[in-house]
Amino acid sequence: MPKLEIIVAEADIEAALKLRTTLIQIGYHVMAIARTTCELIALARVCRPDLVITSPDLQGELDGIKAVEVVQSELYIPVVFITERSDSSSIARAKNAKPYGLVVRPYQDIQLQISIEIAIERYHAETKIKGHLDVAEKLKAFKSELISLISHEGRSPLTSILMSTDLLQRYSDNGTESQRSRCLSRIKAAVDHLNQLLEDVLDLNRSDANDRSLSLEPIELIGFCRQVIKEVTDHACEHNDDSSQVKLHSMELSRMFYTDIRILQHILQNLITNAVKYSPGQSPVDVYITCFETEVEIKVCDHGIGIPASDIPNLFTPFFRATNASGHQGIGLGLSIVKRFVESLAGKISVNSEEGKGSIFSLSLPIISSYPHDDMLGLTCTE
Ligand code: ADP
Repeated sequence: MPKLEIIVAEADIEAALKLRTTLIQIGYHVMAIARTTCELIALARVCRPDLVITSPDLQGELDGIKAVEVVQSELYIPVVFITERSDSSSIARAKNAKPYGLVVRPYQDIQLQISIEIAIERYHAETKIKGHLDVAEKLKAFKSELISLISHEGRSPLTSILMSTDLLQRYSDNGTESQRSRCLSRIKAAVDHLNQLLEDVLDLNRSDANDRSLSLEPIELIGFCRQVIKEVTDHACEHNDDSSQVKLHSMELSRMFYTDIRILQHILQNLITNAVKYSPGQSPVDVYITCFETEVEIKVCDHGIGIPASDIPNLFTPFFRATNASGHQGIGLGLSIVKRFVESLAGKISVNSEEGKGSIFSLSLPIISSYPHDDMLGLTCTE
């Protein structure tokens, strides 16, 4: 077990050295000795010890109590006080700083050791609880963000359906065929939007890698990609007459490998749909497949709106949309789901993009060329 790293803060150098010797004898490592509160804070910031032992009466720009507040609440380092004063007002003053322990001189080494060990145990227990609370807090924020987004995003297609059905009713007797057909198209587009919204939310749930095991099946990659491209372009054509042309480029004619078909389909569909969605009408989208010995690389390249450099680091964060995406429908969930899915296949995804010029999403996946019966790559397989 690594030695506990401690900083001692004590104005009296003789007392500090004596304490240091005792701590070393007990089996701890003393990283540094501070003589003032300023020195203590600076050293704690740099050395990041496991524990600080100091006196409540340490002097400096801040008093000893304030310095301990900084060390504990800003740097998250537990503090044990060591003091000569055992009168009730001094103890009350020291307790105000909420130290993890308090030892009164003269003490026996064993008392000091027990205080340190209790302090460290308490600190670890508190850190663990804090970690759980942070996760719970984040989940709560995520849930409320999701609910407000769905209710906000869902409202506009519903309003569109309502208005179009009203109009349709009015046109049923005296409207023209083309007026009725426009209303029906608007209703269909709104239903598609709602459908997509629900799909995204369900996929988010499914993408929780911890909750699902992979179902590996053999596929012929090139034909599979061709099929996904066809589905995406057919769907885009139904909604937009001049949608982008998507072309597949590969040096190989066929390549068999094992993967979870549904997951890979989702990833490719999402990347190609985005490439088409964020590109102006008829601008080309190219999908390149390169097979190496142990991995396959798939690049989806478009010449669309691109992504501002400052937005790229946040791209795979749920609900994040780039600042130039507002003219396009979406809620910013797709890429975060894609990333989780790619990770569940033990792959990697990255993006290269320039605003106004286009984007390249690169995906690399390990090639599994025979059925893995062992716990390969940490994936759980279902037969
Ligand atoms: P959505 O498209 O629903 O907003 P995504 O999670 O799929 O959500 O994408 C997140 C954001 O990344 C998008 O809002 C958009 O700003 C940006 N983005 C994704 N793909 C592209 C692309 N091919 N070209 C430009 N921007 C893209």
